[in-house]
Amino acid sequence: MKKHNFSAGPSILASEVIANTAEAVLDLNGTGLSVMEVSHRGKDFQAVMDEAVALFKEVLGVPDGYEVLFLGGGASMQFCMVPYNLLQKKAAYLETGSWAKKAIKEAKFFGPVDIVASSADKNFSYIPASYDIPDDADYFHITTNNTIFGTEIMEDIDSPVPLIADMSSDIFSRPVDVSKYGIIYGGAQKNLGPAGVAFVVIRKDILGKVERNIPSMLDYRVHIENGSMFNTPPCLPVFTVRETLRWLKKMGGVARMQEINTGKAGLLYDAIDNSRIFEGTAEKKSRSIMNVCFVMKDEYKEHEADFLSFAQDRGMVGVKGHRSVGGFRASIYNAMPVESVQALIDVMKEFEDIKVK
Ligand SMILES: *Cc1c(COP(=O)(O)O)cnc(C)c1O
Repeated sequence: MKKHNFSAGPSILASEVIANTAEAVLDLNGTGLSVMEVSHRGKDFQAVMDEAVALFKEVLGVPDGYEVLFLGGGASMQFCMVPYNLLQKKAAYLETGSWAKKAIKEAKFFGPVDIVASSADKNFSYIPASYDIPDDADYFHITTNNTIFGTEIMEDIDSPVPLIADMSSDIFSRPVDVSKYGIIYGGAQKNLGPAGVAFVVIRKDILGKVERNIPSMLDYRVHIENGSMFNTPPCLPVFTVRETLRWLKKMGGVARMQEINTGKAGLLYDAIDNSRIFEGTAEKKSRSIMNVCFVMKDEYKEHEADFLSFAQDRGMVGVKGHRSVGGFRASIYNAMPVESVQALIDVMKEFEDIKVK
């Protein structure tokens, strides 16, 4: 049976990306060697790294003055690298979910943190609409897509201080005005590749302003100087990221992705809104186009476990909601075809017709 992969992360990748990676695991460019066993400093892997960086800049539209890094440690390492490199007096954070909270916790190791607004009062079901960003903060940190709660900040915020964004789960899902950001970072394993590599887009002129010493591995300047090869990079994940970027370019880039993603999310949200048994958990105007969170209405709550196994029997994978929201979450990242979204909707309707006579 065809599997429809709605997992939140690691998550679905385009099938040609997986096929090309499988081929390179056996033989990289006819070298007779696996991508896993060649030197990261040899010309074959250097070409992979160079193209991954160049395509990242091209497809996202990264202006001059910025660098693109591929580092180990995931997005969670960036929770500490950001304040290590930037926090001198104080930092400002927007608290929109569990990942934002984790980023805040790490920043507090380095200095005072001003939480400018939070949606904790309603279990992070919305994006705070109005708040002031203190202009004496060293930076302002946001999580653009709240993977667990299904909310998303779609606009590029005007910030008086460098804007730092965790875009782990919505990078390349829509156009972004990179010039408005100081740093954009994330783990690759939601929309870009396998786990094991994080991407960091960084405006160089925000660095070098803190007084503390920074260990080499945690210093952005060291990684910039060494072209993401200060130490051995995660070679295989970087290869797959390059394949995804080639695929994204061929698909028509981020503007086309946004059209497709908005269409897919619209189909699913419409099905939820028109359902007699399901309802969405995020406030409508804060809804994510990447992670769609929904539950059963109170009078049908007892059927939630039943629906999960019903959906699973029909090839739906990873639709169980995160424990902090409950219910269901369908992650519909770039690589998710609209046919799979439709298949989920059909299963939801089939279940509803059985339960509501
Ligand atoms: C998954 C996720 C993370 C954590 O990423 P790791 O690479 O596992 O550290 C951080 N932020 C967001 C928004 C995420 O979705």
